[in-house]
Amino acid sequence: MISQKMLPFLQNNSAIRAMFEEGKEMAKKYGRENVYDFSLGNPSVPAPEEVNQAIRDVLDEEDSLFVHGYMSNSGYEDVRADIAASLNRRFGTAYAAKNLIMTVGAASALNIILKSILDPGDEVITFAPFFVEYGNYVRNYDGKLVVLPPASADFQPDLAGLAKAVTPKTKAVIINTPNNPTGVIYSAESLRGMGDVLREKEREFGTDILIISDEPYRELAYDGCSVPWVPDFYENTVVCYSYSKSLSLPGERIGYALIPDSVSDSEDLIQVATIANRVNGSVNAPSLIQRVIRRCLAVKVNVAAYDRNRNDLYNGLTKLGFTCVRPQGAFYLWVKSPDEDEKKFVAACKEEHILVVPGSSFFGPGYVRIAYCVSNDMIHRSMPAFAKVAEKYGL
Ligand code: PLP
Repeated sequence: MISQKMLPFLQNNSAIRAMFEEGKEMAKKYGRENVYDFSLGNPSVPAPEEVNQAIRDVLDEEDSLFVHGYMSNSGYEDVRADIAASLNRRFGTAYAAKNLIMTVGAASALNIILKSILDPGDEVITFAPFFVEYGNYVRNYDGKLVVLPPASADFQPDLAGLAKAVTPKTKAVIINTPNNPTGVIYSAESLRGMGDVLREKEREFGTDILIISDEPYRELAYDGCSVPWVPDFYENTVVCYSYSKSLSLPGERIGYALIPDSVSDSEDLIQVATIANRVNGSVNAPSLIQRVIRRCLAVKVNVAAYDRNRNDLYNGLTKLGFTCVRPQGAFYLWVKSPDEDEKKFVAACKEEHILVVPGSSFFGPGYVRIAYCVSNDMIHRSMPAFAKVAEKYGL
């Protein structure tokens, strides 16, 4: 019954389920307060009250048939126009409603763009470590994901590696900044360099290469760091955005794909991506939450709560002797494994009831990812357990 293409998912899925079940078993055995689960990237800060109020207001103030009805496959025109205006204010751009397609989160935005551009055997480049679903999304359209290993300890993109990896079959480069799992924000210098490399390769091969900028963590940036606007550096850039983290709404499934006019064949791409939104079965992004987003464009989650977790975890673990990449954004800490095999380190953490994800799950062996979208209290309670692991490794 099951397709050959989907069979491997059954196996992987059971591995993930096993990890989830293990966490639950541990909580039952040792008590919830004695298990420190840093494995999931689920927001721990609730959606701002303005979002809940906007849901009530939409229901009270807008026409019910309109709010719950079908609309254009790209989403409500006024929602897209207001998002475009908000981007224009922030980034000095000139986008219009037509440049936006509302989607079922960033996941769907990535999928409609990939569906729109990939033919079987086409290549998509990304930089390790990366959000592992990229491989699945590219495979959905029979493309090939080409993974570049990190070239430096700061986890900025490897531009020399990129120049070597681009071939006439390269259709796109997926980047993610602020990054899951490293917390790194790509610098303006890196993005300028990336634009130069890709423009040069487009000339050399006579092809178009798209940067797909996956940005669910754009609003989660710390220490006054700004997240450079990627289309400023390269004309052929599409942005895949999500409100899952910026408004703590991951279950509502809302985001968008932005296709600027500067992208090659932009009008066709906008049309095809809109059709992709329909034929992949989404049809359109959920209607009620689109109406809500329109009223919340200036609202943000309490980023200070994540910032406090970031500082407490980073300071706590470095004090214990662990080597960590200081995160500038998102809500993940990327920690160097003191064991050559990070899976052994993950097991040593588990012995102290700490659950973290091995870096190899993100194509980043030798590291682990600690998601600090948890209660601040848990971070402090977990420190004695981390201290025992540090002691085990003689840090
Ligand atoms: N991209 C990255 C890097 C992510 O970490 C996630 C979710 O965690 C997604 C995309 C998918 O986000 P969404 O909920 O908007 O589909």
